[in-house]
Amino acid sequence: MIRDNSPEGATDQRLIGVYDQGCQGPTLVCLGGVHGNEPAGIHAAKRVFETLTKQRIAIRGRMVGVIGNVEALRQGVRHVDVDFNRIWMSDRISRLNGNGSGETASVEDREQMGLLSTLHRVFAESQDEVFVLDMHTMSADGEPFALFGDTLPNRRFASRLHAPLILGLEEHIDGVVLDYVNSLGHVTVGVEGGRHDDPGSIDFIEAIIWLALASADMIREADVPQVASARERMSASSRNLPPVVEVCYRHPIADGDAFQMKPGYRNFQPVREGEILAHDKNGPIHCPEDGYILLPFYQGLGNDGFFIGREVKVGWLKVSSLLRRMRLDAVVHWLPGVKRHPTMKDNLIVNQSRAKWYALEIFHLLGFRKRRLEGDTLVVGRRKPHLANGRRF
Ligand SMILES: [Zn+2]
Repeated sequence: MIRDNSPEGATDQRLIGVYDQGCQGPTLVCLGGVHGNEPAGIHAAKRVFETLTKQRIAIRGRMVGVIGNVEALRQGVRHVDVDFNRIWMSDRISRLNGNGSGETASVEDREQMGLLSTLHRVFAESQDEVFVLDMHTMSADGEPFALFGDTLPNRRFASRLHAPLILGLEEHIDGVVLDYVNSLGHVTVGVEGGRHDDPGSIDFIEAIIWLALASADMIREADVPQVASARERMSASSRNLPPVVEVCYRHPIADGDAFQMKPGYRNFQPVREGEILAHDKNGPIHCPEDGYILLPFYQGLGNDGFFIGREVKVGWLKVSSLLRRMRLDAVVHWLPGVKRHPTMKDNLIVNQSRAKWYALEIFHLLGFRKRRLEGDTLVVGRRKPHLANGRRF
């Protein structure tokens, strides 16, 4: 049953659909069209709503489909004034909230206020854990993958989607919507389904939504044959890819750079240090290290030329889960050259000349992310701890 009886919800143009059967459980929010030229996630969510409704599939909790940037979607462009997935900083959001109607604001300011109100309404109505899936596509060819801020709950949810896992993208770009939602304590995973205009991207994202419903324990696999075929589809597509990749480099594009990616790169294609990947007004752009190319930029709007990732061994993830469960993150400030930040809770100041042997990887392992580097001083912050059943991760 698709229903939304609240007076506000009845007119909310952001809602793709709502499905529940009045049975308490988690909420899965499928967010599509955060970039207006990426409608695949919206089509995929519609298909899932249709199947759920037609087959009256039993569900615990509620699935909600939400559109990100309605105006950009209407125009078929990535964004109208500014990138909608780079503006979710908490200070900006408080400023927007203080502005009231924001009459003089940009298109994305108004979209942000609309999406904030929809999301907060959905979160307020949730009776249990909230999972948010942010569904994107890319300008290059390539297999689907999942990306997330590396908390244990995000990791657990993402690992059941049977897609390669990308860590650390959020350390290279600020203000993504999932970072904001994660900071509210919800479980978040972003997915890239494939090339924007490839119909196969809709199939992949649909498969990911079925797996997300199963991963959140909202549907029973025995009742829903779509889950097994989704797993098969995803496993087949990721068979020859590294299971976990950490983003270690981003090539930013500035206005007027005349950035041109060399044709033919696929997402996850292995690249070598020194290889010419692109050109801009200053000449050739070389690959900074061996690894995998991620999200090579081929057309449209955007400021990310490409990312380079390196494979993370699955054993490393297991060690990191163990260390975090042992709460070693709570005593890491005892190490020489590391102290607590005087004002920012959950942040550490690392004097890199004293703490030479602790690479940033050690802090990643313990669930911290890089905030900034000033000279020899590195500031790392703990990702927002997730609260579930009274446990802190
Ligand atoms: Zn996108």
